[in-house]
Amino acid sequence: MARYRESVCRLCRSEGMKLFLKGDRCYSDKCAFERRGYVPGEHGQSRRKRTDYGVQLREKQKLKRMYGLLEKQFRGYFGKADMQKGVTGTNLLILLERRLDNMVYRLGLANSRSDARQLIKHNHFLVNGKKVNIPSYLLSVGDQIQVKEKSKKVNRILEAMETVVRRGIPQWLELDKDKFTGIVSRFPAREELTMPIQEQFVVELYSK
Ligand code: SF4
Repeated sequence: MARYRESVCRLCRSEGMKLFLKGDRCYSDKCAFERRGYVPGEHGQSRRKRTDYGVQLREKQKLKRMYGLLEKQFRGYFGKADMQKGVTGTNLLILLERRLDNMVYRLGLANSRSDARQLIKHNHFLVNGKKVNIPSYLLSVGDQIQVKEKSKKVNRILEAMETVVRRGIPQWLELDKDKFTGIVSRFPAREELTMPIQEQFVVELYSK
């Protein structure tokens, strides 16, 4: 599948915010955005006036990049969110949060969502006791994610479990560190998703 191949830190700088794409590094003083928090390139430090469309587009790009999705996949989530009852923007965020790669990252079993994707594809996890190697697998309340027995010694997983304290585990998830398992105890409320995203702009963009 196609993937973004340039330095991901450039994405944070272009969007003007931290997208937390590099795991623990994002929480350290090595973060490129902390050191150069302006748009990369020759005109990076000059002010740009954005049109309404530009603002909506940037908000969509931020969200898409944060979860590491391509346009077609992201549009698919929007379509699903729009079909559901309730507020489309919130539905969209919850759908993105339900992805297995996101949950593995949130539980601290991987250092970033892209790391989680790789680990999932390499068959390191079970969901409700069954092998699942699809990063986009959507979890439901009560589902259990477990590190496979033979994967409990994988350094990347162990390191992630050590460093997760810096960002913390969200309240809607439960982690049993000793058993290498996590449970989705509920879905997050909108106010618990603290990343600075204004999802109504994404809804406006796609509703044109
Ligand atoms: Fe973004 Fe993380 Fe790179 Fe900082 S270290 S610029 S937050 S990806």
